[in-house]
Amino acid sequence: MHYVSTRGESPQKRFTEILLGGLMDDGGLAMPESYPAFSRADLDAMRGMDYRQLAFAILSRFADDIPADDLRALIDRTYTPEVYCNTVSGSDARDITPLYTLEPGLHVLELSNGPTLAFKDMAMQLLGNLFEYALAKDSAELNIFGATSGDTGSSAEYAMRGKRGIRVFMLSPHNKMSRFQTAQMFSLQDPNIFNIAVRGVFDDCQDMVKAVSNDLAFKSSYRIGTVNSINWARVSAQVVYYFKGYFAATRSNDDEVSFTVPSGNFGNVCAGHIARMMGLPIRHLVVATNENDVLDEFFRTGVYRPRATAETLHTTSPSMDISKASNFERFIYDLTGADGAHVKALWSDVDRGRAFDLSESSLFPRVASEFGFQSGTSNHAHRIATMRLAVERWGRAIDTHTADGLKVALERRETDVPMIVLETALPAKFSETVLEALGSEPVRPAGMESLESLPQRFEVMDADVNAMKAYIADKVGQGAG
Ligand SMILES: *Cc1c(COP(=O)(O)O)cnc(C)c1O
Repeated sequence: MHYVSTRGESPQKRFTEILLGGLMDDGGLAMPESYPAFSRADLDAMRGMDYRQLAFAILSRFADDIPADDLRALIDRTYTPEVYCNTVSGSDARDITPLYTLEPGLHVLELSNGPTLAFKDMAMQLLGNLFEYALAKDSAELNIFGATSGDTGSSAEYAMRGKRGIRVFMLSPHNKMSRFQTAQMFSLQDPNIFNIAVRGVFDDCQDMVKAVSNDLAFKSSYRIGTVNSINWARVSAQVVYYFKGYFAATRSNDDEVSFTVPSGNFGNVCAGHIARMMGLPIRHLVVATNENDVLDEFFRTGVYRPRATAETLHTTSPSMDISKASNFERFIYDLTGADGAHVKALWSDVDRGRAFDLSESSLFPRVASEFGFQSGTSNHAHRIATMRLAVERWGRAIDTHTADGLKVALERRETDVPMIVLETALPAKFSETVLEALGSEPVRPAGMESLESLPQRFEVMDADVNAMKAYIADKVGQGAG
C-alpha cells in the first residue's frame, strides 16, 4: 500500500513513513492510493471475528510494511478487555466496543470504555504502541508537544505514558478544564509525561504550539512531533469499530445499517466513510454537529465555510467545538475522484480563511446519493432534552456529545435500517451538564470514584514561547523519561 497526498504533489510514502509525521510534503493529508476492498466472501469470513482479529484483517491492509507477526502482537496488546474495561452499562468488556441496544433497530456503539472515557482511546492506544515500536526500530526518540482543552491531551497521555523513547509535553489552559479532566491528566505520575498549565485560554496554548512548530531548527534538534487528528494511523484504527458495530447489529451481510456520528474534526466519520468505501454495507453516514455547525452547513448547502476562532462557540459538548474540520479534506478528495489539483485549489481558499461553494457543482448531489452522507445539528436545549429522554425511555445515561448524536439519529432514522449512534464519551466525563439534565451525578467506572483527590503533578507557566522552549530543552537534555 502506498500513500498519496490529497493535494497531489507529494511523493508516495509507506505506512511507517507517515506514522510519525503530520502533513504530507505539499501540505495535504495522506490517503491510500486506493482502498482495499472486502468482498462478500471476505465479509462472511469476518463476521465471526473478535475485535483483535477484525483489527488485524483491516489494519494489515493499510500497514503492510509492518511484518504481520509484529502488527498482530501490537494489536493483541492494545485491544484487551483490561484496557477497555470502563463500561458502566453492564456491557461485556470482551467485545471492546460493545453494542448496546436501546430498542430494536436503535443502538449505541460503546467506544468510550478506554482509560480516558472518550472514543479517542480507540485509536490513540494503538498509536502509543505503534510509536514505541517504530522508534525502537531506529533507536529514535520523539517529544510530543501539543495543546488540549480536554479529550485529545488526556487520551494521548494515557496512550504514551511509560512508553520508551517518548515524552509528552501537553499544554492546557490553567483552571479552564473540568475538575475531572484536570485530575485525569494531572494525576499521572509517569516521568515521561509533562503537564503544563498555561496562564491563558486554549488559543494561547495552541499559539505556543504553532510558534514552536514553526521554529524548524528547534523542532528538529529536539525531535518535536504531534498526535493530531489528521494522523492516518488514527483514522485507519477507527475503521475497525464500524465493522464490529455492523456485525453486531445485523444477522447477515445482506443487511444494511446507518451510523450517526457526533462530529468535530471529521476524523471519526471519515473512518466510517472509509469503511463504506471498503465494502461495508452502510446506508447512511449521518454527521451530527453541535452549535458549531460548519459541517451540517456543508451537507445541507454545499458551502464549506470555516469559522474564525472568535466565531467558535463554547458549548456543553466541548469536544465538538471546532471552527474547521481538518479531516474533511480527505472526503473532498474522494468526492473529486482523487483530483489533487482540485483539492489544492479549494484549500488555497480554506487556508486563507475563505469558504468554498460546491452548491452549483455536479459533485454536490453525489455527496448524498453516492456517498450516503446526511447531517443534522443540535444545541444545548436539545442535548438536555435528549439526555433526559434516553434515561426516561431506555434507562440509559449518555454524555452530551452522544446526546447530540442521538438527537440527530432520531430525526434521520428509517424504519427498515438499523441506526447505530456512536457513543463518543461517558457521562462521567461531563458531569456538570449531566447533573443539570438528570438531577444526579453520573456513575463513574470502578476505581475512578476519588480521582480528584489523587496527588497532582503539573507546572504553571505564562504563555511565553521562549520559556516554553527552555523548559523542553531542559527536560529533554536531562534525558528524563
Ligand atoms: C473528539 C471528539 C468528538 C469529535 O470527533 P471528530 O473525530 O473530531 O469528529 C466527539 N465527541 C467526543 C467526546 C470527542 O472527544
